[in-house]
Amino acid sequence: MRAMVLNRPGTELVMTELPDPVPQRGQVRVKIGACGVCRTDLHVLDGELPHIKYPIVPGHEIVGRVDTVGPGVSNHRLGERVGIPWLGHTCGECFYCRSEMENLCDEPLFTGYTRDGGFATHTVVDADFAFPLGDEGSDEALAPLLCAGLIGWRSLIMSGDAKRLGIYGFGAAGHIVAQVAKWQGRSIYAFTRGGDTTAQTFAKELGAVWAGSSDALPPEPLDAAILYAPVGSLVPAALRAVRKGGRVVCAGIHMSDIPSFPYSLLWEERQIVSVANLTRHDGVEFLNIAPQVKVRTHTTTFPLERANEVLAMLRRGDLVGAAVLKP
Ligand SMILES: [Zn+2]
Ligand SMILES: [Zn+2]
Repeated sequence: MRAMVLNRPGTELVMTELPDPVPQRGQVRVKIGACGVCRTDLHVLDGELPHIKYPIVPGHEIVGRVDTVGPGVSNHRLGERVGIPWLGHTCGECFYCRSEMENLCDEPLFTGYTRDGGFATHTVVDADFAFPLGDEGSDEALAPLLCAGLIGWRSLIMSGDAKRLGIYGFGAAGHIVAQVAKWQGRSIYAFTRGGDTTAQTFAKELGAVWAGSSDALPPEPLDAAILYAPVGSLVPAALRAVRKGGRVVCAGIHMSDIPSFPYSLLWEERQIVSVANLTRHDGVEFLNIAPQVKVRTHTTTFPLERANEVLAMLRRGDLVGAAVLKP
């Protein structure tokens, strides 16, 4: 198999020929059709997350087909299309696993972070953590649902029944969540980098009632806001934009420090919460809802070899919607 490998933090990925992976008990091998590129891949590249396995193959929005079934697997068959998300393994025994909070498992493995991921031609995954995807839609269109969509869905649940919903950072997750939230009858207020009129126009095309710069105040106070941009200073900015009792949901896996802010911004029962990872239940629920919403992902596809270039574009904010790599 071939893979784009990160050998050390802060370096470029290197195309590498690796031995073909063999699925162990409970695992399947997947021939990858497409893998989405996510902001978290940049945090892996930069070594900003703890306990990264080196060398690592990044990528955790994988769509592919089962090409080898390991021993003891009865829930997947050869040739079946599956999706592989960020959460790749849980212990099944810790307090969190036993309390329907497996997203917080004490001994997890994460795809493309502590276990090799999808910037490759093949990968091996736990069969119980691969979602059946059916045959509707292209691999490229489905890939962003596996992280941007799933984390987006979990953060949308965390925002409660907010009618007026702010979305800070209108990229891969934002553009999917906006469609689901609109389908649910919510009003979307999109916040982008100052002057990013491309993203603001994109947000309005997807039905946002208002789009503006992240340091602007919305025309009316929001019930909740979700932060997809990993920028700590957006936390006080979003607190300013929500009403009394409103909630700010931090949906990133990594964020720069939150600057100190006056207590008055949090006062009146405003809340700040974070979203970590996903549960398999979130995945099943979202992948069931996405076809009903008719979620349309805005993707640009690149060959796997161009991963470094695509990651640089993501870092600069040069991508509209989501980027997908195809081996
Ligand atoms: Zn991701
Ligand atoms: Zn656990």
